[in-house]
Amino acid sequence: MHPIAPPLLAWYDAGHRLFPWRGIDDLYRIWVSEIMLQQTRIQTVLDRGYYDRFLERFPTVEALAAADEDAVLAAWSGLGFYRRARNLHAGAKAVVAEYDGRIPEDPAVLGTLPGIGRYTCGAILSSGRNRKLPILDGNVIRVLSRLHEVDGPIDKTATLKELWRLAEAVLPDGRPGDFNQALMDLGATVCTPTSPDCDGCPLSAGCGARAAGAQADYPQPGKRTKVTFEVRAAVMLTRDDGRFAVVRRPADGLLPNLFELPAATVGDDTTPADVAAALAGVELRNCGQVDHRFSHRHWTTHVFRGASEVGPDDVRWVTRAELSELGLPSVSRKAIEAAMGLG
Ligand code: SF4
Repeated sequence: MHPIAPPLLAWYDAGHRLFPWRGIDDLYRIWVSEIMLQQTRIQTVLDRGYYDRFLERFPTVEALAAADEDAVLAAWSGLGFYRRARNLHAGAKAVVAEYDGRIPEDPAVLGTLPGIGRYTCGAILSSGRNRKLPILDGNVIRVLSRLHEVDGPIDKTATLKELWRLAEAVLPDGRPGDFNQALMDLGATVCTPTSPDCDGCPLSAGCGARAAGAQADYPQPGKRTKVTFEVRAAVMLTRDDGRFAVVRRPADGLLPNLFELPAATVGDDTTPADVAAALAGVELRNCGQVDHRFSHRHWTTHVFRGASEVGPDDVRWVTRAELSELGLPSVSRKAIEAAMGLG
């Protein structure tokens, strides 16, 4: 057994974090949690009820497979990175159509489902079936690269290969599932990015970075992706009956098929008010602006409001209550709240 396994498992047993997807053997529930947590913080998923609500709406893989995409995107609204929801949905359909509703337990097969890479496959099967499969997420990368002083930027294939090798090498035979969870917990709560608590760490005796006083040097970051900025104008058109217009975004590009207020990009040679006027064709009131940061993009949206009985092509006239039935990304919600004076 690798020397870090006994102290790490003892530390985990002495009191680990409790999550609804831990200590269960329902692979579907674990799968949903892993996909939600890929780019969303645990506290967001739990405190805002996303996990429970999603599972209430789609309690089984069959229920998810049978749902239409708009319903799945509506349940995902606010979590961002909607490709995750589409892949989860496509994966559920594949499980029902090809595997009789049983989530494959062979990693080589599970890894062929949409959105399930090596990490997710290892996380689902090690947690739900105690299979000896490694995982490598941001927390595990941080712990392993500090413990072993792994050199090389983490976006390089050679560095990742070495980290995967280490993640596999440290796994014990007996409790690989708990061990993986413990590694993640250690990275999240003790071996944190900027202020690791090395004195309270069960692995401090064998930690290379600690011995060298070089904790801050690991992991070595990859190249930063440039953020692009875009200014947009969005218009809330409200009918006499109180319903307002939303439109579906194109099927390709950012936020595909999700809903938003009618909106357009503001070029360098025009103004938000001009763009909004061209979109609406009626008198408008300026409701301020909202900012939203995606992973590599920043939108500043100037929001306007006006009365109109006609909207753009393919418009949907909705009430505020009906928004919960639509795939509505956070950026659209912020614009709607600004237009309603709620922002
Ligand atoms: S000793 Fe410090 S740097 Fe090393 S694994 Fe523990 S918390 Fe991280």
